Amino acid sequence: MATILSLPPELLTYLLSFLPGVDLPRAASVCKQFNESVAVDLVWQKRCNVEYGVDKLEGWRKPTFRDMYAKILHPYGYLLGLWQPEIGPYGGLVYIEVVYGSILATLYQPPCDPNVTAPLRKKACFSITLTEDGRTELRCLKGPKGPHKCVITSQDDMKESFCAKCCKPDKHRHEGGRTEELQAWLEEELGNSEEFLHDHIQELLLMKFMIKSQYETVCLYKRIHLPEPMHNVPIQPGLFKGTYGSHGVEVVNLTYQDMQILGTKVTGDPNVPACQLSIEADLSEPLRLSLEQQQTLAILELVDKEDVIVRDQGLGEEQPFKLPHGVSDRGMNHIQDRIHKTITTCRARYFGTGLIASHGFMNSSRTPGHLIVFSEDVFGFLWLELRSLSIYSRVHEKFV
Ligand SMILES: [Zn+2]
Repeated sequence: MATILSLPPELLTYLLSFLPGVDLPRAASVCKQFNESVAVDLVWQKRCNVEYGVDKLEGWRKPTFRDMYAKILHPYGYLLGLWQPEIGPYGGLVYIEVVYGSILATLYQPPCDPNVTAPLRKKACFSITLTEDGRTELRCLKGPKGPHKCVITSQDDMKESFCAKCCKPDKHRHEGGRTEELQAWLEEELGNSEEFLHDHIQELLLMKFMIKSQYETVCLYKRIHLPEPMHNVPIQPGLFKGTYGSHGVEVVNLTYQDMQILGTKVTGDPNVPACQLSIEADLSEPLRLSLEQQQTLAILELVDKEDVIVRDQGLGEEQPFKLPHGVSDRGMNHIQDRIHKTITTCRARYFGTGLIASHGFMNSSRTPGHLIVFSEDVFGFLWLELRSLSIYSRVHEKFV
Protein backbone atom coordinates (compact mmCIF):
# COMPACT_ATOMS: atom_id res chain seq x y z
CA MET A 1 0.00 0.00 0.00
CA ALA A 2 1.27 3.51 -0.85
CA THR A 3 1.99 5.63 2.24
CA ILE A 4 3.29 9.14 2.70
CA LEU A 5 6.72 7.56 3.20
CA SER A 6 6.70 6.15 -0.33
CA LEU A 7 6.52 9.68 -1.76
CA PRO A 8 9.64 10.95 -3.54
CA PRO A 9 11.83 12.91 -1.03
CA GLU A 10 11.34 16.20 -2.94
CA LEU A 11 7.58 15.88 -2.60
CA LEU A 12 7.83 15.06 1.11
CA THR A 13 10.06 18.12 1.57
CA TYR A 14 7.52 20.20 -0.33
CA LEU A 15 4.64 18.97 1.85
CA LEU A 16 6.56 19.51 5.08
CA SER A 17 7.37 23.09 4.07
CA PHE A 18 3.69 23.90 4.67
CA LEU A 19 3.98 23.12 8.39
CA PRO A 20 4.61 26.03 10.76
CA GLY A 21 8.32 26.24 11.60
CA VAL A 22 7.68 25.57 15.31
CA ASP A 23 6.15 22.16 14.40
CA LEU A 24 9.01 21.04 12.16
CA PRO A 25 11.30 19.68 14.92
CA ARG A 26 8.47 17.36 16.07
CA ALA A 27 7.85 16.26 12.47
CA ALA A 28 11.58 15.53 12.16
CA SER A 29 11.38 13.16 15.13
CA VAL A 30 8.74 10.96 13.45
CA CYS A 31 11.13 8.85 11.33
CA LYS A 32 14.35 8.93 9.32
CA GLN A 33 12.70 10.11 6.07
CA PHE A 34 10.91 12.96 7.81
CA ASN A 35 14.11 13.91 9.60
CA GLU A 36 16.01 14.05 6.30
CA SER A 37 13.30 16.05 4.59
CA VAL A 38 13.09 18.61 7.42
CA ALA A 39 16.87 19.04 7.21
CA VAL A 40 16.53 20.39 3.65
CA ASP A 41 17.08 24.14 3.86
CA LEU A 42 14.33 24.85 1.29
CA VAL A 43 11.78 23.92 3.97
CA TRP A 44 13.21 26.59 6.29
CA GLN A 45 13.54 29.11 3.48
CA LYS A 46 9.82 28.82 2.90
CA ARG A 47 9.04 29.22 6.63
CA CYS A 48 11.33 32.30 6.90
CA ASN A 49 9.52 33.81 3.93
CA VAL A 50 5.93 32.90 4.79
CA GLU A 51 6.13 33.65 8.52
CA TYR A 52 8.50 36.63 8.54
CA GLY A 53 8.83 37.88 4.95
CA VAL A 54 12.56 37.07 4.90
CA ASP A 55 13.75 35.49 1.66
CA LYS A 56 17.43 36.43 1.49
CA LEU A 57 20.42 35.61 3.67
CA GLU A 58 22.77 38.20 2.20
CA GLY A 59 25.03 39.68 4.83
CA TRP A 60 24.27 37.06 7.50
CA ARG A 61 27.36 35.30 8.87
CA LYS A 62 25.81 31.86 9.29
CA PRO A 63 24.01 31.37 6.04
CA THR A 64 21.41 28.65 6.46
CA PHE A 65 17.71 29.39 6.64
CA ARG A 66 17.40 26.85 9.44
CA ASP A 67 19.77 28.90 11.64
CA MET A 68 18.03 32.06 10.55
CA TYR A 69 14.71 30.61 11.64
CA ALA A 70 15.87 28.95 14.85
CA LYS A 71 18.28 31.56 16.19
CA ILE A 72 16.89 34.84 14.88
CA LEU A 73 13.35 34.76 13.55
CA HIS A 74 11.68 32.34 15.95
CA PRO A 75 12.95 34.16 19.07
CA TYR A 76 13.01 37.72 17.71
CA GLY A 77 10.95 37.82 14.48
CA TYR A 78 7.94 39.23 16.37
CA LEU A 79 9.96 42.42 16.79
CA LEU A 80 9.67 43.23 13.07
CA GLY A 81 7.37 46.22 12.52
CA LEU A 82 6.51 49.55 14.15
CA TRP A 83 6.74 50.27 17.87
CA GLN A 84 6.15 53.14 20.24
CA PRO A 85 8.75 53.50 23.00
CA GLU A 86 7.29 54.67 26.31
CA ILE A 87 9.46 57.70 26.96
CA GLY A 88 7.48 59.71 29.49
CA PRO A 89 5.09 62.07 27.68
CA TYR A 90 7.26 62.08 24.54
CA GLY A 91 6.55 58.61 23.12
CA GLY A 92 8.34 57.93 19.86
CA LEU A 93 8.43 55.84 16.70
CA VAL A 94 10.74 52.86 16.22
CA TYR A 95 10.86 50.66 13.14
CA ILE A 96 12.43 47.21 13.30
CA GLU A 97 13.36 45.49 10.05
CA VAL A 98 15.70 42.91 8.58
CA VAL A 99 18.52 44.73 6.84
CA TYR A 100 21.78 43.41 5.44
CA GLY A 101 22.97 40.86 8.01
CA SER A 102 20.94 41.96 11.02
CA ILE A 103 17.61 42.83 12.57
CA LEU A 104 17.91 46.56 13.11
CA ALA A 105 15.80 48.83 15.33
CA THR A 106 15.81 52.49 14.27
CA LEU A 107 14.27 55.44 16.10
CA TYR A 108 12.48 57.79 13.66
CA GLN A 109 12.28 61.25 15.21
CA PRO A 110 10.24 64.19 13.90
CA PRO A 111 12.20 66.66 11.73
CA CYS A 112 13.56 69.90 13.19
CA ASP A 113 10.82 72.45 13.83
CA PRO A 114 9.02 73.72 11.79
CA ASN A 115 10.13 71.87 8.63
CA VAL A 116 7.27 69.39 8.36
CA THR A 117 8.23 68.34 4.83
CA ALA A 118 11.69 67.13 5.87
CA PRO A 119 12.22 63.38 6.38
CA LEU A 120 12.10 61.86 9.86
CA ARG A 121 15.50 61.84 11.59
CA LYS A 122 16.90 58.32 11.98
CA LYS A 123 18.92 56.98 14.89
CA ALA A 124 19.99 53.36 15.43
CA CYS A 125 18.78 51.77 18.71
CA PHE A 126 19.82 48.11 18.72
CA SER A 127 20.63 45.20 16.43
CA ILE A 128 20.41 41.42 16.47
CA THR A 129 22.99 39.47 14.50
CA LEU A 130 24.68 36.07 14.30
CA THR A 131 28.35 35.73 15.23
CA GLU A 132 30.94 33.70 13.27
CA ASP A 133 30.41 30.74 15.60
CA GLY A 134 26.64 30.88 15.17
CA ARG A 135 25.59 32.61 18.39
CA THR A 136 22.83 35.20 18.50
CA GLU A 137 24.18 38.61 19.48
CA LEU A 138 22.10 41.54 20.75
CA ARG A 139 23.80 44.91 20.68
CA CYS A 140 22.78 48.34 21.96
CA LEU A 141 23.86 50.95 19.39
CA LYS A 142 23.27 54.05 21.51
CA GLY A 143 25.99 56.39 22.71
CA PRO A 144 29.34 57.51 21.27
CA LYS A 145 31.41 54.48 22.33
CA GLY A 146 30.31 51.79 19.91
CA PRO A 147 27.99 48.76 20.10
CA HIS A 148 27.64 46.91 23.41
CA LYS A 149 25.50 44.19 24.95
CA CYS A 150 21.78 44.55 25.58
CA VAL A 151 18.88 42.23 26.38
CA ILE A 152 15.36 42.08 24.96
CA THR A 153 12.42 40.48 26.72
CA SER A 154 8.89 40.05 25.50
CA GLN A 155 6.37 41.52 27.93
CA ASP A 156 3.21 39.62 27.00
CA ASP A 157 2.07 36.41 25.32
CA MET A 158 0.60 38.29 22.36
CA LYS A 159 4.04 39.83 21.66
CA GLU A 160 2.47 43.28 21.60
CA SER A 161 5.13 44.79 23.86
CA PHE A 162 8.76 44.21 24.73
CA CYS A 163 11.47 45.67 26.92
CA ALA A 164 15.00 46.54 25.76
CA LYS A 165 17.66 46.94 28.43
CA CYS A 166 21.19 48.18 27.86
CA CYS A 167 23.85 46.25 29.83
CA LYS A 168 26.55 48.94 29.61
CA PRO A 169 24.95 52.34 30.28
CA ASP A 170 28.41 53.91 30.76
CA LYS A 171 28.90 53.45 26.98
CA HIS A 172 26.26 56.19 26.51
CA ARG A 173 28.33 58.79 28.33
CA HIS A 174 30.33 61.36 26.39
CA GLU A 175 33.96 61.97 27.35
CA GLY A 176 33.12 65.62 28.00
CA GLY A 177 30.36 64.78 30.50
CA ARG A 178 26.73 65.85 30.61
CA THR A 179 27.36 69.31 29.16
CA GLU A 180 28.79 67.84 26.00
CA GLU A 181 25.93 65.33 25.82
CA LEU A 182 23.39 68.13 26.09
CA GLN A 183 25.23 70.17 23.47
CA ALA A 184 25.30 67.25 20.99
CA TRP A 185 21.61 66.53 21.63
CA LEU A 186 20.61 70.18 21.13
CA GLU A 187 22.44 70.27 17.79
CA GLU A 188 20.49 67.21 16.67
CA GLU A 189 17.20 68.57 17.94
CA LEU A 190 17.51 72.08 16.52
CA GLY A 191 19.39 71.31 13.30
CA ASN A 192 20.98 74.48 11.95
CA SER A 193 18.04 76.65 13.00
CA GLU A 194 19.11 80.17 13.86
CA GLU A 195 15.75 81.06 15.35
CA PHE A 196 15.96 82.78 18.72
CA LEU A 197 14.97 80.40 21.52
CA HIS A 198 12.65 81.88 24.12
CA ASP A 199 13.31 80.97 27.77
CA HIS A 200 10.18 78.81 27.69
CA ILE A 201 11.47 76.78 24.74
CA GLN A 202 14.89 76.41 26.38
CA GLU A 203 13.17 75.04 29.49
CA LEU A 204 11.12 72.60 27.38
CA LEU A 205 14.24 71.38 25.58
CA LEU A 206 16.16 70.88 28.82
CA MET A 207 13.26 68.92 30.30
CA LYS A 208 13.03 66.76 27.18
CA PHE A 209 16.76 66.01 27.38
CA MET A 210 16.55 65.10 31.08
CA ILE A 211 13.48 62.85 30.69
CA LYS A 212 14.71 61.13 27.51
CA SER A 213 18.04 60.38 29.24
CA GLN A 214 16.17 58.52 31.98
CA TYR A 215 14.76 56.08 29.41
CA GLU A 216 18.04 55.49 27.56
CA THR A 217 19.00 52.29 29.35
CA VAL A 218 15.65 50.56 29.92
CA CYS A 219 12.64 51.18 27.74
CA LEU A 220 9.29 49.52 27.14
CA TYR A 221 7.92 49.38 23.59
CA LYS A 222 4.31 48.90 22.48
CA ARG A 223 3.31 47.76 19.00
CA ILE A 224 1.79 50.33 16.64
CA HIS A 225 -0.79 49.16 14.12
CA LEU A 226 -0.96 51.34 11.02
CA PRO A 227 -4.36 51.84 9.37
CA GLU A 228 -5.18 50.19 6.03
CA PRO A 229 -5.89 52.38 2.96
CA MET A 230 -9.57 53.36 2.64
CA HIS A 231 -12.11 54.30 -0.03
CA ASN A 232 -14.14 57.52 -0.10
CA VAL A 233 -12.20 59.45 2.50
CA PRO A 234 -10.98 63.06 2.16
CA ILE A 235 -7.38 62.02 2.87
CA GLN A 236 -5.81 58.58 3.27
CA PRO A 237 -5.07 57.53 6.87
CA GLY A 238 -1.49 57.09 8.11
CA LEU A 239 1.33 58.90 9.89
CA PHE A 240 1.76 62.68 9.65
CA LYS A 241 4.24 65.24 10.98
CA GLY A 242 2.46 68.20 12.57
CA THR A 243 3.55 71.52 14.09
CA TYR A 244 2.80 71.97 17.78
CA GLY A 245 4.09 75.49 18.49
CA SER A 246 6.80 75.63 21.11
CA HIS A 247 6.77 71.81 21.39
CA GLY A 248 8.09 71.51 17.85
CA VAL A 249 7.06 68.89 15.29
CA GLU A 250 5.20 65.80 16.53
CA VAL A 251 3.98 62.63 14.79
CA VAL A 252 0.27 61.76 14.74
CA ASN A 253 -1.48 58.65 13.44
CA LEU A 254 -4.53 59.63 11.36
CA THR A 255 -7.33 57.05 11.43
CA TYR A 256 -11.05 56.84 10.75
CA GLN A 257 -13.82 55.56 13.01
CA ASP A 258 -17.44 55.68 11.89
CA MET A 259 -17.93 59.25 10.66
CA GLN A 260 -14.96 60.65 12.53
CA ILE A 261 -11.40 61.42 11.54
CA LEU A 262 -8.97 60.99 14.45
CA GLY A 263 -5.40 62.19 14.94
CA THR A 264 -3.70 60.33 17.81
CA LYS A 265 -0.27 61.38 19.03
CA VAL A 266 2.57 58.94 18.43
CA THR A 267 5.01 61.47 19.87
CA GLY A 268 3.84 63.93 22.48
CA ASP A 269 4.90 66.66 24.87
CA PRO A 270 4.56 67.53 28.57
CA ASN A 271 1.22 69.30 27.94
CA VAL A 272 -0.52 66.72 25.74
CA PRO A 273 1.38 63.41 25.93
CA ALA A 274 1.81 60.63 23.36
CA CYS A 275 -1.24 58.33 22.85
CA GLN A 276 -3.74 61.18 23.42
CA LEU A 277 -6.34 62.07 20.78
CA SER A 278 -4.88 65.40 19.63
CA ILE A 279 -7.45 66.33 17.00
CA GLU A 280 -10.75 64.94 15.70
CA ALA A 281 -13.37 66.12 13.23
CA ASP A 282 -16.87 65.15 12.19
CA LEU A 283 -17.02 64.00 8.56
CA SER A 284 -20.82 64.10 8.41
CA GLU A 285 -20.83 67.89 8.22
CA PRO A 286 -18.42 69.20 5.56
CA LEU A 287 -18.02 72.98 5.46
CA ARG A 288 -17.54 75.42 2.67
CA LEU A 289 -16.43 78.95 3.49
CA SER A 290 -16.15 81.88 1.10
CA LEU A 291 -12.99 83.98 1.01
CA GLU A 292 -14.93 86.81 2.66
CA GLN A 293 -15.89 84.57 5.58
CA GLN A 294 -12.18 83.83 6.13
CA GLN A 295 -10.96 87.45 6.07
CA THR A 296 -10.51 87.74 9.82
CA LEU A 297 -11.00 85.46 12.78
CA ALA A 298 -13.69 87.83 14.10
CA ILE A 299 -15.73 87.42 10.87
CA LEU A 300 -15.11 83.64 10.85
CA GLU A 301 -16.41 83.33 14.41
CA LEU A 302 -19.63 85.13 13.48
CA VAL A 303 -20.41 82.65 10.69
CA ASP A 304 -23.50 80.58 11.46
CA LYS A 305 -22.57 76.88 11.39
CA GLU A 306 -25.79 75.91 9.56
CA ASP A 307 -25.01 78.38 6.76
CA VAL A 308 -21.67 76.81 5.88
CA ILE A 309 -22.44 73.10 6.15
CA VAL A 310 -22.77 71.59 2.67
CA ARG A 311 -23.85 68.00 3.05
CA ASP A 312 -24.02 67.31 -0.69
CA GLN A 313 -20.48 68.49 -1.38
CA GLY A 314 -18.47 66.16 -3.60
CA LEU A 315 -15.40 64.63 -2.02
CA GLY A 316 -12.24 66.52 -2.94
CA GLU A 317 -14.08 69.44 -4.60
CA GLU A 318 -11.81 72.50 -4.39
CA GLN A 319 -13.00 75.44 -2.29
CA PRO A 320 -11.45 78.78 -1.26
CA PHE A 321 -8.92 78.88 1.56
CA LYS A 322 -7.36 81.85 3.26
CA LEU A 323 -5.50 82.13 6.55
CA PRO A 324 -7.68 84.63 8.45
CA HIS A 325 -6.00 87.86 9.54
CA GLY A 326 -4.85 87.44 13.13
CA VAL A 327 -4.10 83.71 12.84
CA SER A 328 -0.51 82.52 12.82
CA ASP A 329 0.61 79.37 11.07
CA ARG A 330 3.65 77.17 11.57
CA GLY A 331 5.05 75.09 8.74
CA MET A 332 2.90 76.43 5.88
CA ASN A 333 5.91 78.09 4.20
CA HIS A 334 7.67 74.72 3.95
CA ILE A 335 4.64 73.24 2.19
CA GLN A 336 4.38 76.21 -0.18
CA ASP A 337 8.12 76.11 -0.93
CA ARG A 338 7.74 72.44 -1.80
CA ILE A 339 4.91 73.04 -4.30
CA HIS A 340 6.20 76.45 -5.47
CA LYS A 341 2.92 78.26 -4.90
CA THR A 342 0.75 79.91 -2.31
CA ILE A 343 -2.10 77.75 -1.06
CA THR A 344 -5.42 79.44 -1.90
CA THR A 345 -7.73 76.43 -1.98
CA CYS A 346 -8.47 73.34 0.05
CA ARG A 347 -10.25 70.05 -0.74
CA ALA A 348 -12.35 69.63 2.38
CA ARG A 349 -13.08 71.31 5.68
CA TYR A 350 -14.78 69.99 8.84
CA PHE A 351 -15.67 71.19 12.30
CA GLY A 352 -13.64 69.45 14.95
CA THR A 353 -11.94 69.75 18.30
CA GLY A 354 -8.33 69.75 19.45
CA LEU A 355 -6.97 68.72 22.81
CA ILE A 356 -5.22 71.33 24.95
CA ALA A 357 -3.85 71.03 28.47
CA SER A 358 -1.49 72.80 30.80
CA HIS A 359 1.85 71.32 31.85
CA GLY A 360 1.61 67.72 33.07
CA PHE A 361 -1.63 67.13 31.11
CA MET A 362 -3.51 69.11 33.76
CA ASN A 363 -6.87 70.80 33.07
CA SER A 364 -7.21 69.14 29.68
CA SER A 365 -10.11 70.21 27.47
CA ARG A 366 -11.20 70.04 23.85
CA THR A 367 -11.20 73.35 22.03
CA PRO A 368 -13.05 74.06 18.75
CA GLY A 369 -11.30 74.08 15.41
CA HIS A 370 -11.42 73.29 11.71
CA LEU A 371 -9.72 70.34 10.09
CA ILE A 372 -8.73 71.45 6.60
CA VAL A 373 -7.56 69.01 3.92
CA PHE A 374 -5.23 70.63 1.37
CA SER A 375 -4.04 67.61 -0.59
CA GLU A 376 -3.52 63.86 -0.27
CA ASP A 377 -0.41 64.58 1.78
CA VAL A 378 -1.19 67.79 3.67
CA PHE A 379 -3.87 68.93 6.09
CA GLY A 380 -4.16 71.64 8.69
CA PHE A 381 -5.93 72.16 11.99
CA LEU A 382 -7.12 75.68 12.72
CA TRP A 383 -7.18 76.15 16.50
CA LEU A 384 -9.82 78.89 16.74
CA GLU A 385 -9.19 79.91 20.35
CA LEU A 386 -5.42 79.61 20.05
CA ARG A 387 -5.52 81.61 16.80
CA SER A 388 -3.07 79.29 15.13
CA LEU A 389 -2.91 76.80 12.28
CA SER A 390 -0.99 73.55 12.73
CA ILE A 391 0.25 72.01 9.49
CA TYR A 392 0.46 68.22 9.05
CA SER A 393 2.57 66.66 6.30
CA ARG A 394 2.47 62.95 5.45
CA VAL A 395 5.31 60.71 6.62
CA HIS A 396 6.74 59.23 3.42
CA GLU A 397 9.08 56.71 4.99
CA LYS A 398 7.85 53.21 4.16
CA PHE A 399 7.11 51.01 7.15
CA VAL A 400 6.06 47.69 5.67
ZN1 LIG B 1 23.56 50.98 25.58
